[in-house]
Amino acid sequence: MYCINCGVKLADTEKKCPLCGVTACHPYIKQEEEVPLFPGQRYPTPQLPPRTAQIIITTLFLLPIFITLLCDLQINGAVVWSGYVVGALGMAYAIFVLPYWFRRPHSVAFTALSFMAIGLYVFYINQASGGDWFLTFALPVVGYVGTVVTAVAALLHRLRRGRLYIFGGAFLALGAFMPLMEYLIVATFCRPRFVGWSLYPMTALLLLGAMLIFLALNQPARERMERKFFL
Ligand SMILES: [Zn+2]
Repeated sequence: MYCINCGVKLADTEKKCPLCGVTACHPYIKQEEEVPLFPGQRYPTPQLPPRTAQIIITTLFLLPIFITLLCDLQINGAVVWSGYVVGALGMAYAIFVLPYWFRRPHSVAFTALSFMAIGLYVFYINQASGGDWFLTFALPVVGYVGTVVTAVAALLHRLRRGRLYIFGGAFLALGAFMPLMEYLIVATFCRPRFVGWSLYPMTALLLLGAMLIFLALNQPARERMERKFFL
C-alpha cells in the first residue's frame, strides 16, 4: 500500500501516513493493529544538560564581576568605577541568562523584567555620577518604551493573529511619544529651546505604523506585499 498524498510505501497495517499524516486507505486491504514500519516518535538530540550550561554561563558572569570589584577596591579602596561594570553585567545577565533558568520562561514577565533591569542600571548611573536626569528623563523614556514593548509581547503571547495591528499600533505609540521625549530632553538638560527634531522620527514611526495598519486592513495589498518580499 502507498500513501495517496505523498506516495511513500506504507505497511498494510498503517492507518495514517507517518510522513504527511494523511489517512491511509486501500479498498481491499483490511487495516489491523501491528508494528508500524516507521518509528512513531522522533529521537531526542543529545544536549549538554541545561543546568550545567546555566552554571557555566553564570560563572562566566560572576568571574569578571569579582575581578573588577577586587581591582577597584585594591586601587581606590572603594567602589568607584567597578559599579558601572558590575551593573552592566548584572543587567545583561537579567536580560539574557535569567529567563533560561526556567523551563518555560514567561515572555511577557521577562520582557517587563528586562526593562526594569535597564531602568535600575540607568538609575545607578544617575546616582553614581551625581546626575539629576533620572526622574525627569530616563524614567519616563524607559518606562514608556518598556510599557509599549511589554504590551506587544503580551498581545503576541495571547493573540495568534493580528500581528500587523500589534506592530502598527506599537509604532504609532512610539511615534506619538517622540515630541514628549524631545520636551523631556529640553526640560532636563536645559537645551535652549524646542527645535522640533522629534518631528522627523515621529513622522517616520507614524508612517510605518499607519502602513502596517493599512496592510492589516487591506487584504489585496497585503498579499501583493507578501509576494514582493517572499514572505
Ligand atoms: Zn503521505
